[in-house]
Amino acid sequence: MAALALLSVPHALIAALGILMAAAAATGIAFILPSFLMVLVLAALYVHFGNLSWIQGVFYGIGAAVIAIVVRSAVKLVKMTIGNDWLLWAMFAAVAVTTAWTESEVVWVFVGAGAVVARDVPDFALVVGNPARNTGWMCRCGIKLDVAGEKVRCRTCATDYVLHEGVLRFAEPAG
Ligand SMILES: [Zn+2]
Repeated sequence: MAALALLSVPHALIAALGILMAAAAATGIAFILPSFLMVLVLAALYVHFGNLSWIQGVFYGIGAAVIAIVVRSAVKLVKMTIGNDWLLWAMFAAVAVTTAWTESEVVWVFVGAGAVVARDVPDFALVVGNPARNTGWMCRCGIKLDVAGEKVRCRTCATDYVLHEGVLRFAEPAG
């Protein structure tokens, strides 16, 4: 019975993943198909009338519109993700200068800029993710603590802690 339960969990997960992927593919096709058809029509027009100066003019006009749309989206994205955080602005500038200077997108610069601890980390906090978020607490002996209430005891070394207002401290020795 236990073995059956163990087997059925991954199957349920795989089924759920399959449904999600099918939905994602359908959404993707719905979004991509119209643009794809438009590009096909434009490409056919370009091949057919590419020598005419007016069609080159049309393509230059479309280019300007596309640049405007990309700039608008970039400004929105910057407002949403960077906002007023000076540290994030400094990293944004560093990545921008590096990209312009090297005239290439160095992938590790982007990964490094994303994998940051943008805020102070409390003592004993276990931070995971990108940007880093507090997901739990670690004992000084290196074991993850099971935090259920305010009073926490390490199950390995029996050190006592108190969790109060988002800060974990050693418990005062009972005296
Ligand atoms: Zn411990």
